[in-house]
Amino acid sequence: MQQRIVVLAGGIGGARFLRGLKSAAPDADITVIGNTGDDIHLFGLKVCPDLDTVMYTLGGGIHEEQGWGRAGETFAVKEELAAYGVGPEWFGLGDRDFATHIVRTQMLGAGYPLSAVTEALCARWQPGVRLLPMSDDRVETHVLVDTEDGRKAVHFQEYWVRMRASVPAHAIVPVGAEQAKPAPGVLEALAAADVVLFPPSNPVVSVGTILSVPGVREAVADAGAPVVGLSPIVGDAPVRGMADKVLAAVGVESTAAAVARHYGSGLLDGWLVDTVDAGAVADVEAAGIRCRAVPLMMTDVPATARMASAALALAEEVRGS
Ligand code: GDP
Ligand code: CA
Repeated sequence: MQQRIVVLAGGIGGARFLRGLKSAAPDADITVIGNTGDDIHLFGLKVCPDLDTVMYTLGGGIHEEQGWGRAGETFAVKEELAAYGVGPEWFGLGDRDFATHIVRTQMLGAGYPLSAVTEALCARWQPGVRLLPMSDDRVETHVLVDTEDGRKAVHFQEYWVRMRASVPAHAIVPVGAEQAKPAPGVLEALAAADVVLFPPSNPVVSVGTILSVPGVREAVADAGAPVVGLSPIVGDAPVRGMADKVLAAVGVESTAAAVARHYGSGLLDGWLVDTVDAGAVADVEAAGIRCRAVPLMMTDVPATARMASAALALAEEVRGS
């Protein structure tokens, strides 16, 4: 029987991990539940940064060093828009990338749900996984910050990309999540899974947002399958990005153990921390979560594949106990 693996993924951390997972488990049937809380409407177009990062990374179209956007990208459209004084200029959309958003927006306008649109886009990219948006309904992560005009909510991308998370976040709100329904296939995939994995994605604004769609957290907790996560925090700091800022907003320390406790033993059966955090293993196990320390730096595909193998091995260990 083909192993059925379900992964709850954000953008860069999720996508890079998935590339390693595919290499470690080439015969597995992999379903990815992607975060859509980062989605934004720009220039009349619907942009889904996390879904596209997964699609381009697994489909061979990603800008490798940057981790997002297309390889060999040019920015003529963005420059032309700027010449008209039309922004925002702080969000990088290249010419090749624009085509994806045009196709998506056109299909949505014709009445297709985001899940069907994502499937159509993936027909080109052949990511080798089934990529599902967490929901077909609109969910938008907002961040509560202090500005000159007082406290206000800004779109996650404005906080992350324009402000570079340079001011404290007081709250993170997945606007629309309460009314959202999981996309077709999401709950079914979780119920049928042999293993559920949390890649080293942002625990608050990626995995946390997916879990905030009603029914998803319950489906993960009730899945008969072991649930194993990999820490995005190594040596008490995010490996890349500013996850510490959004963890602080939800009152969680930026340590591998604190993130495991934040998910909790109700959700997680197993947790991998980096070898530099081996001292956290006992802490995590005391919280009722089986824990191992292995190298967790996704420096290349073979190293990432070893991380994925370690996660699958820990899942087997949990299953056998
Ligand atoms: P985003 O949507 O592009 O921000 O991507 P994700 O939410 O999927 O992942 C972001 C997280 O990945 C960050 O918190 C990083 O700390 C983590 N990350 C990135 N590269 C690595 C790595 O090589 N190892 C580990 N353990 N975490 C990583
Ligand atoms: Ca993201």
